[in-house]
Amino acid sequence: KYYLDRIKQLDDQIDSYITVCEEEAIKAAEKADKRIAEGNSNLLTGIPISIKDNICTEGILTTCASKMLYNFVPPYNATVIKKLLAEDAVILGKVSMDEFAMGGSTQTSYYKKTKNPYDITRVPGGSSGGSAAAVAAKLSVVALGSDTGGSIRQPAAFCGVTGMKPTYGTVSRFGLVAFGSSLDQIGPIAQSAKECAALLKVISGYDGHDGTSSHKEIDFSSQLDMDIKGLKIAVPKEFFGEGIDEEVKESVLEAIKKYESLGAEIVEVSMPSLKYAIAAYYLLSSAEASSNLSRYDGIKFGYCTPKAKTYEERITRTRKEGFGNEVKRRILLGTYALSSGYYDAYYKKALYIRQKIKQEYEEIFKSCDVMITPTAPTTAYKIGAIENDPVKMYLADICTVTVNIAGLPAINTTCGYDSDGMPIGMSIVGKAFDDAKVIGVANAFE
Ligand code: GLN
Repeated sequence: KYYLDRIKQLDDQIDSYITVCEEEAIKAAEKADKRIAEGNSNLLTGIPISIKDNICTEGILTTCASKMLYNFVPPYNATVIKKLLAEDAVILGKVSMDEFAMGGSTQTSYYKKTKNPYDITRVPGGSSGGSAAAVAAKLSVVALGSDTGGSIRQPAAFCGVTGMKPTYGTVSRFGLVAFGSSLDQIGPIAQSAKECAALLKVISGYDGHDGTSSHKEIDFSSQLDMDIKGLKIAVPKEFFGEGIDEEVKESVLEAIKKYESLGAEIVEVSMPSLKYAIAAYYLLSSAEASSNLSRYDGIKFGYCTPKAKTYEERITRTRKEGFGNEVKRRILLGTYALSSGYYDAYYKKALYIRQKIKQEYEEIFKSCDVMITPTAPTTAYKIGAIENDPVKMYLADICTVTVNIAGLPAINTTCGYDSDGMPIGMSIVGKAFDDAKVIGVANAFE
């Protein structure tokens, strides 16, 4: 009730919730109270959580912040939702995002253009901006987001909270509306690394409904008490070069020094392929998106144009009216890149870069435990500052996309504040399935 009241009082300013599940939440909370009274509570019993609106919830509207899914009520729960409910978590509602998770500002949402709780004239980041803002403004205790190229870590950085993209395959994608299937992962946003570990414990695990689900089991909280002494931290010089804001750079380097004072060894490394990362990411993710989004045809579910006379017209008009500009841009880019005659020139080259980036990480992690970089080149910017310039928006993803390209675990935690009082985030990256270490290193700082 406390959280529902806060949402009523404050969300007019933040605009994080697309759907509030008041009745269901109260019911779930009463059930949780009972369980606690009986003395048999689970890890998440009674914990109020908000869910990014691209994760399917049975009987609850799931829009992907798109007009295309304005009436889509899934007949099933995503695997992560099933797991949360089995632990008696209380779902408060569905939170806003960039349309179909394409963006970094939450300003492409068809419904709620979320604001940053630190300064409501600024963006909360994205695409999981609703999740990060809800946690930062205490409109939910924790949240789930999804991360295809930084969409958990960057809004977490902008809103001063902790957010983690786990190793690809760790959390089931069943019921997550697909954007770039080889990159997408669901993950937690919370106040701390420790809370992220608790949530990951619940939502992770092998799932036969997801063909890329991993059998590896991870004990996420096993390294919460790790000794930083002797830890080898890789610092890639390319992530601290041109385009990275001075205050961000200084703050992350300051944090690295703190680890050094705790006994960590700092190793300067290089990632030469970083200069191709944005191009490769936008080719791969758009190619996959163009295929994944072909299902929205106005026939099976979702928005359908009232105007069409023929079958063909129905499909084209539905997609013209139902998708926003950024989504259309990605579909066009992806379809073009996959066209015969262009496939080798674009998609195949992007796959080659993907391999190079993976190899460069592997080489670094042969001798280092983790890598630390800024999470974003800047802190949260003013609403309207760059969202209308797609190239500027794409370039702002430079610090996060390589992690998805290589399928690695990475966590954002707050390392400082800029002169306007906006949070600065750093990312701790690990090798595949080293999620517990990444959490441990973040926890040591927090
Ligand atoms: N900002 C990136 C993009 O627009 C990342 C999005 C995401 O991780 N879902 O594609």
